[in-house]
Amino acid sequence: MIQLEGIRKSFGKQQVLGGINLTVQKGEVVVILGPSGSGKTTLLRCINYLERPDQGVIQIGNQKLEGKHPGRSEIHRLRQRTAMVFQQYNLFKHKTALENVMEGLTIVRGVPRDTAAEIGIEMLEKVGLGDRLHYYPSQLSGGQQQRVGIARALALNPEVILFDEPTSALDPELVGEVLEVIRRIAEEGITMIIVTHEMGFARDVASRVVFMDGGAIIEQGTPDDIFQRPREERTRQFLRRIT
Ligand code: ADP
Repeated sequence: MIQLEGIRKSFGKQQVLGGINLTVQKGEVVVILGPSGSGKTTLLRCINYLERPDQGVIQIGNQKLEGKHPGRSEIHRLRQRTAMVFQQYNLFKHKTALENVMEGLTIVRGVPRDTAAEIGIEMLEKVGLGDRLHYYPSQLSGGQQQRVGIARALALNPEVILFDEPTSALDPELVGEVLEVIRRIAEEGITMIIVTHEMGFARDVASRVVFMDGGAIIEQGTPDDIFQRPREERTRQFLRRIT
């Protein structure tokens, strides 16, 4: 369903991704772990061409993009297949929760407003915000704002949702409610790629854990493989440091 082949990316002289190969099957929840600076976020952003890879092939469904030169319309089509949940939520401050969720549907997808509102309400209910439809981001907690971000991603009915450290901007007491929502959607069989530092969550929710370091995938496997029986010294070191 998603296939990455030989993805390379440098910023100036610094190589950040050194030729990443990764396949994700439909319905899989892939969690990407690794030290800060290992290229996790850059990889995620390459998947929807928020960063253009210097080299490599990205295939989602039957669409294939290569290297840094695909045109706007091709990238637009690729983005229709994905949705991203950002660290900093990226909500429109002057729009309500419902308007934020409707925005992508009406503007990008051309869905009529009344249909978009129906979908928006359904998705906000799904993330436990059915009673906050008309609140502005400033009237919501960080955890609630991120749940709006998740509802917005779900509303687009994407083939894959990309989560970029979805809880790292939250106060510790708000992390749980967001992880709980993600866990619930994961159970519905939506394909997800999640960059996170929440190890307990990774262990629970992942069908596969990918460990990255220095712009490379060092090893990957089931949560048990990675957490109980890591094969690579770098993985062991990382797990020792963070647990
Ligand atoms: P991670 O998500 O694993 O912490 P990132 O993908 O965010 O790693 O970053 C990997 C490296 O790429 C870091 O050294 C970071 O400073 C650098 N980097 C990321 N984005 C940019 C950018 N837009 N311009 C220059 N350097 C960047």
